[in-house]
Amino acid sequence: MKVRPQLLSLNAYAPGKSSEEVRREYGLDQIVKLASNENPYGSSSLVREAISNIKDFAVYPDGAAAELRKKVAQYVGVNENQLIFSSGLDEMIQIISRALLDEHSNVVLSAGSFSQYRHNAVVQNAEIREVPLKNGRFDLTAMAEQMDEKTQLVWICNPNNPTGTYVTDKELDAFLQVVPPHVLVAMDEAYYEYVTADDYPDTIPLLDRYENLIVMRTFSKAFGLAAFRIGYAIGAPSFIQQLEVVRLPFNTSVLAQTAAVAALKDIDFVESSAAANSRELQKYYEFCRLHNIDFYPSQANFIFMSFPGKKSEAIFQYLLERGYTVRPFPNGIRVTVGTEEQNKELFNILEKMVLVTN
Ligand SMILES: *Cc1c(COP(=O)(O)O)cnc(C)c1O
Repeated sequence: MKVRPQLLSLNAYAPGKSSEEVRREYGLDQIVKLASNENPYGSSSLVREAISNIKDFAVYPDGAAAELRKKVAQYVGVNENQLIFSSGLDEMIQIISRALLDEHSNVVLSAGSFSQYRHNAVVQNAEIREVPLKNGRFDLTAMAEQMDEKTQLVWICNPNNPTGTYVTDKELDAFLQVVPPHVLVAMDEAYYEYVTADDYPDTIPLLDRYENLIVMRTFSKAFGLAAFRIGYAIGAPSFIQQLEVVRLPFNTSVLAQTAAVAALKDIDFVESSAAANSRELQKYYEFCRLHNIDFYPSQANFIFMSFPGKKSEAIFQYLLERGYTVRPFPNGIRVTVGTEEQNKELFNILEKMVLVTN
């Protein structure tokens, strides 16, 4: 078999060791997973109730997700024809990439951001124009300078995974004014519900002014439904209609649609998760300042920390052996903000490491 040559440069997604494997290998009682930015408080109790009421397993889901569509349209404050649903935003990134990119086009993205933008562009055999982050933040000026008549798409992750930094409303306004109208500006707002900054852009009203804007949100993070795989994008109806052509007919399951509808009835759960997250983030900032650990202030439910003079793989391993999984990057680690108890224990472990090795 001979797959298309560009696939040979990619690796399949490699899941980390399961918590159970780590637990057994290191003889631990339990593992605290702070590696994938899941909601440490779980999800709304309404979800469990709703999915246990699903009766008929033999019928296909509603391919148009009519009920969920109605609820999301109300929640976001848009028309139903502005929405498309996907099996998590991972699939939305694939749908958008398939619809727009081929070997004759290019995509502008940031080197220090979510890896799936690049992965899907390679699969499409598009030219990739990568712009480095500047102080952990998107450099929109440099990204705009990379665009030409063959540019089809630009990815902006806001807040950014893994740094937690954000593009401000003024920065986005200036950017949208210079981006040519043939370039789709794809805003990945996976952590939208966690944001607290006053100058974080309100992108929904911008959709009326910019037909080349699309906004992506997910139920995987603050809503705590990562297991179900459900996300959505909001854009211009005519463009959404074109994306629908690429979408699989039944890409979101009955379970996922039911869970998301139930979760939308309990916004209190999301708000209390977000409030707890920002309280706990403050404790991370204090801890980092106290121990001279570099960090970026975060608008999400994770924090990026760099330990001067230490290798992030070594820190990753140190934490793993003590029952904490985090995500290592070349220049630091990304830690999901856990519950008060989990964070306190993590600080104790990290403190010992800092004191021992300094
Ligand atoms: C987690 C994440 C996603 C994927 O989320 P799913 O909806 O679970 O597929 C997309 N973008 C960013 C930036 C993320 O952090």
